[in-house]
Amino acid sequence: MTTIYNFSAGPAVLPKEVLRQAASEMLDWQGSGMSVMEMSHRGPEFISIYRTAERDLRELLGVPDNYRILFMQGGGLSQNAVIPLNLVGRVQSNGQPATIDFVRTGSWSGKSIKEAARYANVNVAASAEANGYTAVPPQSAWQLTPGAAYLHLCTNETIDGVEIDFVPEVPGDVPIVADMSSHILSRAVDVSKYGLIFGGAQKNIGPAGVTVVIVRDDLIGHALPICPSAFDFKNVAENESMYNTPPTYGIYIAGLVFRWLKEQGGIAAMERKNIEKARLLYAALDADDFYQNRVAPAYRSRMNVPFYLRDESKNEAFLAGAKARGLLQLKGHKSVGGMRASIYNAMPIEGVQALVDYLNEFAER
Ligand SMILES: *Cc1c(COP(=O)(O)O)cnc(C)c1O
Repeated sequence: MTTIYNFSAGPAVLPKEVLRQAASEMLDWQGSGMSVMEMSHRGPEFISIYRTAERDLRELLGVPDNYRILFMQGGGLSQNAVIPLNLVGRVQSNGQPATIDFVRTGSWSGKSIKEAARYANVNVAASAEANGYTAVPPQSAWQLTPGAAYLHLCTNETIDGVEIDFVPEVPGDVPIVADMSSHILSRAVDVSKYGLIFGGAQKNIGPAGVTVVIVRDDLIGHALPICPSAFDFKNVAENESMYNTPPTYGIYIAGLVFRWLKEQGGIAAMERKNIEKARLLYAALDADDFYQNRVAPAYRSRMNVPFYLRDESKNEAFLAGAKARGLLQLKGHKSVGGMRASIYNAMPIEGVQALVDYLNEFAER
């Protein structure tokens, strides 16, 4: 049987070991006689699953004690509203609408801007639109607002394949909010440099339905009166993410992924593998002018690699041939076309090598 490698951008590949363990525990979690799906979120079994997951994530990312980890629902997109609803109130005491700074680096930051404009003044401090979202505008050109409620960045643009690998300077104590949906846990990050980090789980953490929010204590407790109570960080934090029923099964799988990451050697080991995988794939794309990745090398994402065939009439043949070789879900996002290979933590280097072999063979043919 052909080995299958799944390059989906999300929901995406999960570690086989995790899926096998979940399968073996599906009907009876550790002698409890229940599936995790059937357990009360307030019972001792699930509470232990939850606390272990929280502790392991904290350890993996080195989350300082003055940050809370929340497991929410609603996906990454809902956070585009939930975050302003929770954060703008902190700087809005004089009745003036708050300003949120954004750097527009691609599709996802674009969506965040649009949503936030419903709750605050939005300042696009810099935009990569002019370069076709192929590079992050130089920091010296960012027009940041002193006293802004926060600066929002999408540190890995999943569709455009642009990754921000630095922490910018901000005026005063303006917190940085980072949408890390598609590269969280793929590289070391100094959490203390951010006010809030968030991500939908379905790229690099676990199944769709869980949204991880890591937020500094002092940013909690400022929700606007119109913020839905189930999305008020204060309610979520004070109730260990159980103000209402959390996505229990997703949290359980995320917990298995966290343990798997620890067994792999943690984030540092994962980052080394991710660097190697990305280098292998970009080298193959650059070596043959049959293929093209348009992102400036300094900003190329290690996780999401969009590319084009120079002769786009061969797209269908390329995808059909890939599928026949067990290389799945390589079609690019509909808004940009072409191809995209997402090579998250759970993609082994063998999968990237199989793709590289196919790229070379297809180009020769
Ligand atoms: C996938 C993604 C989102 C949206 O996530 P949903 O869970 O579909 O709402 C937001 N930001 C980034 C960077 C993403 O990759």
